[in-house]
Amino acid sequence: MSKVLVIAEHNGTDLSPATAKTLTGALAVGAEAVEVLVFGHDPQGPAQQAAELSGVTGVKVISAPHFANPLAAQLAPEMVAVASGYTHIFAPSTTFGRDLLPRVAGLLRVNQISDVMEVLSDRSFKRPIYAGNAIVTVNVPASSKPILATIRTASFAATGVGGSAAIESIEPQASAPTHTRYLKTEGSGGEGPDLSSASVVVSGGRALGSAENFEIVHSLAKKLGAAVGASRAAVDAGYVPNELQVGQTGKIIAPDLYIAVGISGAIQHLTGIKDAGTIVAINKDAEAPIFEVADFGLVGDLFELLPELERAL
Ligand SMILES: Cc1cc2nc3c(=O)[nH]c(=O)nc-3n(C[C@H](O)[C@H](O)[C@H](O)COP(=O)(O)OP(=O)(O)OC[C@H]3O[C@@H](n4cnc5c(N)ncnc54)[C@H](O)[C@@H]3O)c2cc1C
Repeated sequence: MSKVLVIAEHNGTDLSPATAKTLTGALAVGAEAVEVLVFGHDPQGPAQQAAELSGVTGVKVISAPHFANPLAAQLAPEMVAVASGYTHIFAPSTTFGRDLLPRVAGLLRVNQISDVMEVLSDRSFKRPIYAGNAIVTVNVPASSKPILATIRTASFAATGVGGSAAIESIEPQASAPTHTRYLKTEGSGGEGPDLSSASVVVSGGRALGSAENFEIVHSLAKKLGAAVGASRAAVDAGYVPNELQVGQTGKIIAPDLYIAVGISGAIQHLTGIKDAGTIVAINKDAEAPIFEVADFGLVGDLFELLPELERAL
C-alpha cells in the first residue's frame, strides 16, 4: 500500500501555491493515502488550507517555536522521525524543498529524485537532465525505504479545493539541533508579484543596456501587474539583482504569459520557461532563437516598441 507525504511550503499564514502543485504530483502516484505535513509555530492557517485541498486524506501538524522559520537543518531530523510511515515523501522543487529534501535523503541514506516533471507510476518518474535538453525516466527498485522526490512545480497544475481532511497535531520527536538557528530573512523588497508564481512575467535581457534603461521593463510589468524577470546577461551586467534571473541557473517558471524583451533565447534561458503558456518575444533580430519558441513575435527596437505597447495598454 502506497502512502505519500507532501511537505507543505508556507509563510506562516498562507500555503504557497507550490504545495498544491506538489500535491498534484503526489496524487499521480495513485496511493491509498496522500497526507500533507505542515511544520511551523502554530501554523493553523496553512494547515486549514492544506486540509481543504482536494485529494488530501489527512494533515499532520508539527508545531514548535523553532519551526517558525523553515530551516532545513532543524526540519530534517524531524522528517526522519516521521518518514517510516510513508512510501513516498514529496517536496516542491523550490528553494525550500531543494534545501530540505537532500538533508532528509542524506539522513535516510536514500537517493533523492530531483525535479520530477511526470509521475509514470508509483516507482517510475520522468525528470530533466542537461538543462532540460534530455528527459530521463528513473525507475526506483523495490525497497523498504521511502522514495524522496522534489516536484517541478512548473510541470504540474495546482489541485483545486473542496477537501475536508482531518488535521492531527503530532509532538516533535527529534531534539532540535543547536548548530543552526534562524537570524533573519532578507529579501529584495521589490514590488509586484513573486517571480516564481506570477501568472504574467516581463523579462529583460542584455539589450536593455543599463539599470536605468531597465526601468521600461519595470514600468511595463507594473502596467500588466506582472513580475519582472531577467536573462543571466542582464543580471551579470548588474541591471537587476540575481534573484530575478530566469533559466537553468535561475528560476524555472511557468507563467500564463511570458514577455521576453531583448533576450536572444539561449537554451539556458529557455530551460526556465519551458512550461510557460503564451510566449511573446520582442527583439530587433528576426533570426533570434527566441522566435522559434515564441507564440507572438515583435521584430523591432525595444526602446521604441515598449513605450508604444505601454501607451496602447
Ligand atoms: C552554465 C550556464 C548557465 C546559464 N544559465 C542561464 C540562465 O539561467 N539564464 C539565462 O538567461 N542565461 C543563462 N546562461 C547564459 C546564456 O547562455 C546566455 O548567454 C544569456 O541567456 C544571454 O542573455 P541575453 O539573451 O539577455 O543576451 P544576448 O544573447 O546578448 O541577447 C540580446 C538580444 O537582444 C537583442 N537586442 C539588442 N538590442 C535590441 C533592441 N534595441 N531592441 C530589441 N532587441 C535588441 C539582440 O538581437 C539579442 O537577441 C547560462 C550559461 C551557461 C554557460
